[in-house]
Amino acid sequence: MASNPVVKHRTRAAARQNGRCHYCSCPMWDAMREPVKSFALRHGISRRLARLLQLTAEHLRARQDGGKDRAGNIVAACRVCNLRRHQGTRQPPEPDAYAALIQRRVAAGRWHYPPLHRLIAAP
Ligand SMILES: [Zn+2]
Repeated sequence: MASNPVVKHRTRAAARQNGRCHYCSCPMWDAMREPVKSFALRHGISRRLARLLQLTAEHLRARQDGGKDRAGNIVAACRVCNLRRHQGTRQPPEPDAYAALIQRRVAAGRWHYPPLHRLIAAP
């Protein structure tokens, strides 16, 4: 097990979430455990698209707002969901509001590139 607490919590969160993103439910790959090439092959997508689904540690309360590197504050999210939450605005949306927004976008087919849509629904 890695000694970095963020990595440890990220790995545990990913296991709890069955390897799927907290926000969009896409499967993710852990760069410490699997090369992007094998994830891409397994899901029949390009490496470029697969990189978007890299496992990241998402701080529900952002570190810049005093969020800690603790299990209760870290979920596993894909790179896209993580980056976009913290992009563009000074204050990231609250996790529940952001989750609801992404679920609406997913339902409308407006989250992730189209080749990734089938991964969201796949068991
Ligand atoms: Zn996601």
